[in-house]
This record gives sequence, C-alpha cells and structure tokens, in this order.
Amino acid sequence: MTSVLVTGANRGIGFGLTRHLLADPSVAIVIATARNVDTATDLKALSSPNLHIIQLDAASEDSIANAAKKVAEIVGENGLDFLINNAGVAYTMKLNEPIAMAKLNEQLQVNAIAPLIIANKFYPLLKKTAAMKGSAQIAIISSTGGSIETAPMVPKDLQLYTGYFMSKAAVNMLTRRISIEWKEDHIRATCFCPGWVQTDMGSQRAQLTVDDSTIPLIKLILSLTEDHNGKYYRYNGETIPW
Ligand code: NDP
Repeated sequence: MTSVLVTGANRGIGFGLTRHLLADPSVAIVIATARNVDTATDLKALSSPNLHIIQLDAASEDSIANAAKKVAEIVGENGLDFLINNAGVAYTMKLNEPIAMAKLNEQLQVNAIAPLIIANKFYPLLKKTAAMKGSAQIAIISSTGGSIETAPMVPKDLQLYTGYFMSKAAVNMLTRRISIEWKEDHIRATCFCPGWVQTDMGSQRAQLTVDDSTIPLIKLILSLTEDHNGKYYRYNGETIPW
C-alpha cells in the first residue's frame, strides 16, 4: 500500500503529479497539500477516494507540524513511502538594481528552508516505512537553475532569477545532506528539474505541457532505487551536473 504526499498540489506541476499518482494502480494513498484548501477547487474536483487534501503553508512551521500530525492519522502504522517537495516561488531581480529583500527571503524560505523543515517533521513517518519496507523516498522538485556548474549556460532571458537559483542550489545541498545523514535509516533523497513547464511560474511560452513533464517525472520518482540516492536528474532521467 504505497502512500505519497505532494506539496503545492493545487495547481501547476504539483497538480499534474497528483493527477498521475491517482491514476497509478500501485499508489493507494495520495495526500495533496494546498496553502488554502478552501480555494483548491481543481483538487477537490478530482474527488477520488484515494485522495486526501490537507493544509500546508510552507512558510509556517505550525502549519507544517499540523500537516505531519494529520498525515500520521491518515497513513497510520504504515508510515509514508514518498514525500514530494514541490511547492515553490520564483521572482525576478537584477543584481545592479534595488532588490526587495523580502522576496529573496520568501524564495529561500519556501524553496529551501521549508523542504528541510518538512523533511524534519515527516522523518518519523518516513523512518517507519523504511523500517518496514526497506526504504522511503524524498523527492525534491528543484531546477536546473540550482546547478552551479551549468550557471554559464543559463539563457539570457532567465538570468533575472539569481535569488531563485540561489534557493534551488540550497535545496540541492539539502538533498545531498539527507542522502548522507539518513542513509542508515534507508531514507533516500533525490532532486529533479521538471523542465521548463507551462504553469503560472513557467508561463505559457514554456516548452513542456504539465503532462509532458509530470508523466515521466512521476514514473521516475516511483521507480527510484538506492542508486538514485543523493543525485540530481531532469524529469526525463538525464543526470544534471551539480
Ligand atoms: P506554480 O507557480 O504554478 O505553482 C506553485 C505551487 O507552489 C502552488 O501550488 C502554490 O500554492 C505553491 N506555493 C507557493 N508558495 C507556497 C507556500 N508558502 N506554501 C505552500 N505552497 C506554496 O509553479 P510550478 O508548478 O511551475 O512549480 C512547481 C515546482 O517546480 C517549484 O518548486 C518550481 O520551482 C519548480 N520548477 C518549475 C519550473 C517551470 O518551468 N514551471 C522549472 C523548474 C522548476 P498557491 O496556489 O497557494 O500559491
């Protein structure tokens, strides 16, 4: 009985991942989190008996802690098999113009610090599964923009995202740290770039539809093994240099 949690599931990539998880016969419990459950109308319209919608604001430690308690009630003694950290924000900035510090803080908080706090609060549930089934998996939706090595290859029109890229480089380090620190607990962590996707964040100019990205991505996440622990992949399985 596989259980999967997806953060930021009310729209965009998170919503696509949730839809494809619900269609996968190997997955029995899908927990979709939304910052505001009342307005998560698309999620509610999925109306599947396997779907549980719960509140999680990545900027609030209390909200994350409450979500972990609710998930514990939903999954019971089985623990949580997969934790997908997808919620994210992106803002533009120019290095040589006035910078809004609050926007930089928000990106670091939602994109990098929240995945750490979420991993920390959900650790007991992941550990429970890993002890019973041999492994549990954290998947972090990062971005190729977090790659320090490929920074010179970023196209000119995306160079306005330095603060966002910094937050993704930070969450990449979190992936590596978890893969090392929780190796003996058999809790694995892997990070992914979903590609440039047609969402509110990616805009309609993006190359990929949500399905183009999330169909292969969810297949990849559900088939992760020990070999993928602490690694960085594109949605199609290609490795990304750190
Ligand atoms: P969207 O802007 O379409 O959706 C973002 C999601 O994150 C929404 O569900 C939003 O909830 C949620 N979110 C934002 N802030 C918070 C918060 N404080 N607490 C909880 N949830 C929050 O983005 P995408 O679907 O495109 O992006 C999903 C992930 O993929 C992100 O991590 C992004 O960085 C990454 N990514 C996307 C790319 C793209 O081209 N689209 C490219 C590379 C990476 P709400 O509706 O309440 O705002």
